[in-house]
Parts: sequence; structure tokens; C-alpha cells
Amino acid sequence: MDIKVFKFGGASVNSAAGVRNVASIIRRFPDDNIAMVVSAMGKTTNALEELLKFFMASDAVAMARVYKKIRDYHMMIMDELFGPNKPIGCMIAVDGLQKLNDYLQARLLNTNLRKEYDFEYDQIVSNGEIFSSAIVYSYLLSLGIMSELLDARELIKTDSTYRDAAVDWELTERNLRKEFDFLFSSTFTRRIVVVIQGFIGGDADGNATTLGREGSDYTAAIVAHSMKTREVTIWKDVPGVMNADPKWFPDARKLKRLSYLEAIELAYYGGSVIHPKTIKPLENANIVLRVKSFLKPHLEGTTIENLAEWKVPVPIYILKRNQVLISISPRDFSFILEENLSQIFSILARNRVKVNLMQNSAVSFTVCVDSDHLDSSGSLAMLQENYSIRYNEDVELLTIRHYTPAAIKRITKGRMVLMEQKTRNTVHLVMKAK
Ligand code: ASP
Ligand code: MG
Repeated sequence: MDIKVFKFGGASVNSAAGVRNVASIIRRFPDDNIAMVVSAMGKTTNALEELLKFFMASDAVAMARVYKKIRDYHMMIMDELFGPNKPIGCMIAVDGLQKLNDYLQARLLNTNLRKEYDFEYDQIVSNGEIFSSAIVYSYLLSLGIMSELLDARELIKTDSTYRDAAVDWELTERNLRKEFDFLFSSTFTRRIVVVIQGFIGGDADGNATTLGREGSDYTAAIVAHSMKTREVTIWKDVPGVMNADPKWFPDARKLKRLSYLEAIELAYYGGSVIHPKTIKPLENANIVLRVKSFLKPHLEGTTIENLAEWKVPVPIYILKRNQVLISISPRDFSFILEENLSQIFSILARNRVKVNLMQNSAVSFTVCVDSDHLDSSGSLAMLQENYSIRYNEDVELLTIRHYTPAAIKRITKGRMVLMEQKTRNTVHLVMKAK
């Protein structure tokens, strides 16, 4: 029996009604073994990040307030789903909430125990998926759907680069195969739904790790690749992959099909439908990726697959906000040389500042970067030690794939373009934010 890998993001399980809807989607496939990857409920990951901020600042009052908000939210969903008699699976979520509080309290009082930010981030923020997976699992069981709950921290093995952990593919594949092969073996005559947390893994020391924000898609790809499934479906609150964000492009259209290559380009430049790391493992194993709507599951969605000779029918617009354009020149008016570039990149890479676009002239080097990590890491100050720096903070990067002159005109009308870069297929425009 083939395994279907389904990924359900936070928006699909943000309420009791959401969890019921997800279960109704599972019921549409009564004969299939399903590996179900779930994200944290609603905006829980953001709330956990807030919790972490107060924890690191040792602000016990604010921390307790945010913790309570997170706890109440999950308890409310469980109350709505199960009423007063909670099934045993829920205890995993309740217990997890308690453990999180114990962890925070112990380290709040004894700051010697506390480690650096990225480590604490993964120990604390990884909990959102622990809660959501336990609740979804319990709910499926309560409907009589044969289900199992796995712990990604024990199966998806990574190095200890907290917040951006690298997967040990070999070990992970071995672990997942062992579990799934057993669960999906012919000993069981009924189909089984296996629930696993997205976004999180574990290192060799038994600590939780995370794979980067929005990393649950990537988890789905890891599971699919390890199990060599035929396809993966990502269930989203949009009908599929659109050629632009409908929020700012009212005439955005859904794309029926997309090549892996196109999907990688889209994800890389911030077309936020799919996590950028997701596509490669699928492409390598020729696994079809479907993006479908959890609100209208009967609709076709978008299919991403190996399409060699395929032309995109419309221009695709990708907007990346919160960009900073930095111009870097040697102080003595000398030329920009390879040594300079390598020094500049090493500062940016070390501080995890993501470079989206670059351009150089004889005496200066210009980069468009994500504002994340830029201020907090002090990268600008480090660059300033050796270079003279000018920067423009309020900018956005617009990429148009398969552009036409009309498409560029439409976008740039009445706006200040600070930098433009064109290849045959793609144009990048750095513009003052509106
Ligand atoms: N819960 C995580 C996040 O919000 C992972 C995910 O949703 O994919 O970033
Ligand atoms: Mg999420």
C-alpha cells in the first residue's frame, strides 16, 4: 500500500472546527495509509517566540501571562473537541504544557542552567507541534480512526545547529523506515494514520531542534523522501500556488501545474506558499507535490512535478518585504576586490543575514538582504569597521519570473526603483516600500 504524506499547517488546525475539518479530509481517504505532518496550532509558534523573549529577559510576569495565553488556547480547543472527559492522548498535550512551564520556571530561578538563545529557542518553541500533534491524534482516535503518534525528536535526527538544524538523512531515513514499515506492515488489516510533528527534530544529545520557521513542509518532504512515496500533499488556506499574492494582486491566478525548478525559484524569492528546502528532496526522488485547499478539498489545487519542456503561462510576481539595501565601499576609495567580497560575505553568513540580491561596481558592492538578524547581530557595525556603508531600510524586493514589459510597467508605476537586475527569464526590482 502506498503511503500518502499530508501536511497540515497551523491555519488548518487553529480551532476545534479546524481540527474537525482536518479529520474530515482524512476521512475522504478511508483506504489509504497516511503519514500526517502537523504544525503548531494557529499562531502558537509566534506566541512561543514571545514567551521565549520574556524568558530570556527574566520577565516572570510577562512570561506567565504569555504562557497562560498559550495554555488556555490549547485547553479551550481540547474542551471543545472532547468536553470534560478527555481521552488519554490529550494527556500528552496537557503533560507537555506542564513540562514547558516546569522548564521555564526552573531556568528562570536558576539562570546558570540557561543556555544561549538559539538553544533555548528550540527547547521552548518546539512545543507548539508537540501540543498540536497530540490533540489531532487524540481526535482521530476518538472518531475510531486507527492512529499512532510519533515523536519527531526521536526520529528526525539533526545536528545541533539550533534554529536551523541540518538533517542527518541517513539516520533519519533508517529511523522513519523502521517505524513506518512496522506500522504499515500487512499485520494490520486496517489503514493507519500516523501523526508526526512538523518543524522539529532532535540532536544526538536528546535536545529538541527546529528546522527553520515554516519548516513543517520540509518535514513532509523528509518523510516522503525517506519512505519513497509517490506524492506529498500540502493542505493550505489558498486554492494552490498563485502567480501573485491575492492580497495585493486582485487578479492573481492559480497555477495548475508547476515544475520543480519553478517552485524552487518561487520559494527562494519569497513566494511564501512552500518552504524553500521542501522541493529538492522531492525532486531528487521524483515525488509529486500537491498544494491543495483544506477549505475546498475537492478542488484540484496545484501539482508540482518534473516538467522539462513546460512554459509558465503567465508572469509570476513575488514580493519580499522587510528588505535592507546596503552599499558597501572600501574607505580609501580603492576597488572592491575578491578579498573584500569574501570578508563581507563571511560577516553576513556568520550572522545568518540572508542575501537576496547583489550587484557590484568598481568601488562599491550593493546587497539586498532580509532585515531579520541584521540589527540583532550587529552586522552593520562589523561592516562599518572596514567599509563605508550606506543603507536604505524601507525597501522591498519584487521578482517577476517570465516578465513582460507590461508586467514591469504595472509594478513600477509611480514607484522609486533603487536597483534593477534582469536575466532572460527574471527581473528583480528593489523599490522603496509603499
Ligand atoms: N509552526 C512552525 C512555524 O509556524 C512551523 C510551520 O508552521 O511550518 O513556523
Ligand atoms: Mg505555522
